[in-house]
Amino acid sequence: AQERYASIRREPATTLCGQTVGLAMNAGLLVDLPSLASCGAEGVGLFRTELQFLIRNKMPRRGELARIYGRVMDAADGKRVVFRTLDIGSDKVLPYMKRTEEPNPALGWRAIRVGLDKPGIMRMQLQALIRAANGRPLTIMFPFIAQFAEFRDARAVMLEELEREKRMGHLTPERVEIGAMLETPSLAYAPRQFFEMADFISIGGNDLKQFFFAADRENERVRRRYDTLNVSFLSFIEQIVRRCDETGTPVSFCGEDAGRPVEALCFAAMGLRALSMRPASVGPVKHLLRRSDLREVRRVVEEARAAGDQSVRLALMQYLATLDL
Ligand code: PEP
Ligand code: MG
Repeated sequence: AQERYASIRREPATTLCGQTVGLAMNAGLLVDLPSLASCGAEGVGLFRTELQFLIRNKMPRRGELARIYGRVMDAADGKRVVFRTLDIGSDKVLPYMKRTEEPNPALGWRAIRVGLDKPGIMRMQLQALIRAANGRPLTIMFPFIAQFAEFRDARAVMLEELEREKRMGHLTPERVEIGAMLETPSLAYAPRQFFEMADFISIGGNDLKQFFFAADRENERVRRRYDTLNVSFLSFIEQIVRRCDETGTPVSFCGEDAGRPVEALCFAAMGLRALSMRPASVGPVKHLLRRSDLREVRRVVEEARAAGDQSVRLALMQYLATLDL
């Protein structure tokens, strides 16, 4: 399937109306990295660091992690890699970490909540990342931030680790970006200061959608019940983009939906200019974006909204059927 899109691999995802959407890929293991060159992504928009922890039967050591992260950066060859700090809990359980049963793990002690309450592992991971960068630019993203204070505190931990590493004589990154994942509706309504402090924001649509509709992403009975192209959800995405634009905060979308061409097109029409997806999706998404006019997609969305449709999918599919794809 990658072959089909080989001719546009080096082309940008520029729409007929002249808007360019940055397409990055999601990764988590070293074996994912060769795809970077072959799929036409401009970087790694989400590196899920927990995968390295999940494939082991004991806690990895700092040196070992630093070597792996260094190899990831080497393989990326100067392209931006967004390292998401450990996102455990909920559906991702470390076999070697003691945990207490929780009635609702998705709403429980997970991700940054663990990172802030028991910062030992997160600090060790941040040290490994700083050492792996060895002076190169470094991009860190904290998962599951639900309120401003969590981001401020997590960022402070990172700044402390940078200072500490410097004091110890390690080379520190020439440039550090610290971003937040927006995965809970609450963060969309955080004070303006949050948006100013964040170097970038990435919408974690998988979690955001489950909390927006109160529908467990793991529960087969309800997980497909609500369409991502539901007008309410699209309005919410649009509002997040607007808030980010107000402070000039770069915003991207890295949930699975970014890799579905029709969804990706709709997000672009809602104003998103950066998407991160599995490697195999980069070609198909780019192909559709390059043949679409976002103003027309926008018009279709507005009309569906005005008509009181629940989802814009049908209207959008009808529009797409008129295109030469
Ligand atoms: C998300 O929630 O959309 C996301 C990208 O994170 P994960 O799927 O790893 O929870
Ligand atoms: Mg998530």
